[in-house]
Amino acid sequence: MRCLRDLLQKAQQSGVAIGHFNISDLVLVKAVFAAARELNVPVLVGLSEGEREFVGTRQIAAFVRSLREEFDFPIFLNADHTHSLAKGIEAAKAGFDSIVFDLSALPIEENVGQTKRAVEALKAINPSMLVEGEIGDIGIGSEIHESSPDLSKGLSTPEEAKQFVESTRVDILAPAVGNMHGMLKSMVQGETKKRLDIERIAGIKRAARVFLTLHGGSGTDDEDLRKAIVAEINIVHINTELRVAWRRGLEHGLAKQPDEVVPYKILPSVVDSVKQVVGSRLQLFNGRHVGHGA
Ligand SMILES: [Zn+2]
Repeated sequence: MRCLRDLLQKAQQSGVAIGHFNISDLVLVKAVFAAARELNVPVLVGLSEGEREFVGTRQIAAFVRSLREEFDFPIFLNADHTHSLAKGIEAAKAGFDSIVFDLSALPIEENVGQTKRAVEALKAINPSMLVEGEIGDIGIGSEIHESSPDLSKGLSTPEEAKQFVESTRVDILAPAVGNMHGMLKSMVQGETKKRLDIERIAGIKRAARVFLTLHGGSGTDDEDLRKAIVAEINIVHINTELRVAWRRGLEHGLAKQPDEVVPYKILPSVVDSVKQVVGSRLQLFNGRHVGHGA
């Protein structure tokens, strides 16, 4: 089995990106895994601190490892948005493949200092664990937002990206390039889309020369996502779209069988609903426009 770094390298050379999907229950893992296997593309599942608290850090690591081993399939595990070194160490010890160490809310000097120390501490536990750092402002909460926050002042620059990467030695950088966590109501309804600053992405890539992650990919214009991947975004995060599909699938499953109480008879509706979203996003990230098979 190739490691995550090799797969990212290969994705970059092939002009594709690896899809990262947040999960907080078994149904979501099943849906993501099924979609990735059907397309035969590597995939990342991620859990923020809150999601890990609900599922169990060591429990999800054991579960994802068992899928990877039994099916000999490249599914990897990311500790998304980790705000303290203690939580990072917990994930490293549990065997996570990568971590998003997110101190982007702090002043940049503090972000640099603490991220640098975290890279050293986490690599000491597991040298092959990839560490991602964050700069700029992309908002918080993978939820439905009433109104759009003003993130224009928090956009990342190539100079800042270069300096951050050189000072901290992170493997992956998450910049602010027009992306945003969560979705507006109008995006859920499909009336509006997030737009990305492609020039900025290309400039940051040239300056920082590391793998780049696009957070808050839900509700983004398809063509912008394709262009961002051409500009060498290597990982795209999707969370809110899955949460919306999860809820809709559950509502559909319950409405379809109003007297049913057996979870494994109700929950396949949720798996189907989420799997559809994951499948269509994976096709886009991997440059496939038609069909479902690989
Ligand atoms: Zn994120």
